[in-house]
Amino acid sequence: MNVIDLLQEHRIDYLSEGHEHCRPGWVQLDCPFCSAGSGRYRLGVNLTYAYANCWSCGSHSLPSVLAVFLRISFRDAKKLVQGVRSERIERGPHQGHYTEPPGVVGLLGAHKTYLKGRGYNYPDLERLWHIRGIGIAPRLQWRVYIPITLHGAPVSWTTRSISADAPSKYMSARPEEETIPHKHLLYGQDYCRHACVVCEGPLDAWTIGPGAVATFGLSYTSEQVKRIAQYPVRAICFDNEPAAQRVAKDLVNVLSTLPGETFNITLDSKDPGEATQKEIRRIRKTILE
Ligand SMILES: [Zn+2]
Repeated sequence: MNVIDLLQEHRIDYLSEGHEHCRPGWVQLDCPFCSAGSGRYRLGVNLTYAYANCWSCGSHSLPSVLAVFLRISFRDAKKLVQGVRSERIERGPHQGHYTEPPGVVGLLGAHKTYLKGRGYNYPDLERLWHIRGIGIAPRLQWRVYIPITLHGAPVSWTTRSISADAPSKYMSARPEEETIPHKHLLYGQDYCRHACVVCEGPLDAWTIGPGAVATFGLSYTSEQVKRIAQYPVRAICFDNEPAAQRVAKDLVNVLSTLPGETFNITLDSKDPGEATQKEIRRIRKTILE
């Protein structure tokens, strides 16, 4: 993930253009150190080198900024930042290869309990999405392992924590562990026919079922837009909250300039995972079936 993915995942409000303090390569946050809640967006975060400085109170490390925003310890914030790649590194030629992390096994009791608790039928998920589990492991322990396939072959992966207090809900393959960067892919694309419903995360896609895809977080890339635009009918179905709906509207606008029909679905519930069966059936009937 990059800095913008991190801010979006944690619902930290930022400005990237149209504001007097914005420069290319930077995003601006409301500085939590000197002017929290002022709407002045003085704190710039550099996207290439992942550091921050405020035009009023000076420089700050990215973990210290996150610690204040998210009310977590500096140590936990440092863990969040570990997965962040600078923009510059991401632009290099991609040379990775699909490699599973150590410790991937079948779903264990704890994974099954978690999935049942979230309202999923885990044998369906194993059959349709080939999910597995990671138990005790050197990294990524107690997570659901979620392979990402393209044309039937696994090309990358992500994982979903099964504990409520994990610092990052989703953690994905490192560049060297993926044949295609996951942010260039849509989770679930292999199941799409004429239409797709675009969600934020794989769990949302599971809820809606085959034909739903996920962008791996609230941000989207131009590669993902190209993939979505291949389908004549597409609907965006992000969480029902302001930050997510803002991104959804941006994405609808981008897609509207391309051939095909684009819809934005605003759910009655908070996110697809909490939607009622009735709401899901309506989405499947109007868009996918
Ligand atoms: Zn400041």
